[in-house]
Amino acid sequence: AWAAAVGRRTVLLAEPRAFCAGVERAIEVVERALEVHGAPVYVRKQIVHNSHVVADLAARGAVFVEELDEVPAGATVVFSAHGVAPAVWDQAGTRELSVIDATCPLVEKVHAEARRFTTRGDTVFLIGHAGHEEVDGTLGEAPGRIRLVQSAAEVDSLEVDDPERVTYLMQTTLALDEAAEVVDALRDRFPAIVGPGSADICYATSNRQNAVRKVAAAAQLVLVVGSANSANSVRLVQVSQRDGAASHLVENVGDVRLAWLDGVETVGISAGASAPPSLVEELTEALSGLGRTEVSVRSVGRETVAFHLPKELRRAAATPS
Ligand code: SF4
Repeated sequence: AWAAAVGRRTVLLAEPRAFCAGVERAIEVVERALEVHGAPVYVRKQIVHNSHVVADLAARGAVFVEELDEVPAGATVVFSAHGVAPAVWDQAGTRELSVIDATCPLVEKVHAEARRFTTRGDTVFLIGHAGHEEVDGTLGEAPGRIRLVQSAAEVDSLEVDDPERVTYLMQTTLALDEAAEVVDALRDRFPAIVGPGSADICYATSNRQNAVRKVAAAAQLVLVVGSANSANSVRLVQVSQRDGAASHLVENVGDVRLAWLDGVETVGISAGASAPPSLVEELTEALSGLGRTEVSVRSVGRETVAFHLPKELRRAAATPS
């Protein structure tokens, strides 16, 4: 496999790729919390869905737990970028935990819509994937009154009390094309259905999908750096596959099989919104080690989005210690 993998090659880097603003903010929240409060700082769930990020923060004193009953009473706990249901906030209050909320503002926007629509009495359909933390959090805004829809095929069997008062919301990391299919099916079934004020699929998800498609159109092989539990990374692989390029999700350069490179002259590379950009550099360097490599960028535009830190940390940062 080694010999077949060696050769001249073009690498196309999709832009944008890797960390989004919500992930950068969530990581900075844990770093600042460690500075301000000292280790250990508890984090409920993986702060972002990337094993490298989690291992790095764990080495610096972050303690990742699945649920709040694993956090000692009175301790500081960070909520992950994916958001939590109100019941989790209640539990934190009961245990007297001090919470620093790293929920991405774009996930919080979907929660706010969920509250607004259910409060006015709508039946709300959340387009998303069962079992994802973000979906659990959004459904938790009005348990029983927000219903998950995972595919266009499910739409036929949906029943509502009042078809004039139906709304939909989306998980932020869906594939644009698949989500559009589900929305079309919902509109056919419930013509009066109303969507969110602005798109729920976030800018980072849309940009990374559009960029990977640009790369997939020109490459025989596309490698997406990301963890298997990262929804937006998995979507990038699927979108790229649908466009006809052999596509693989890799945690890091160690996952790349030389056989994939056999006869491949153009390799596309992207990375999910939770994946560190340094892993892409390592991957590009490793490919350069296999022969003369020309690297070029295929961009759909630059991102300038940045989010403020949560107020608890802005205050702490302003106070000299
Ligand atoms: Fe926020 Fe989108 Fe990044 Fe998720 S992928 S953290 S919603 S910016």
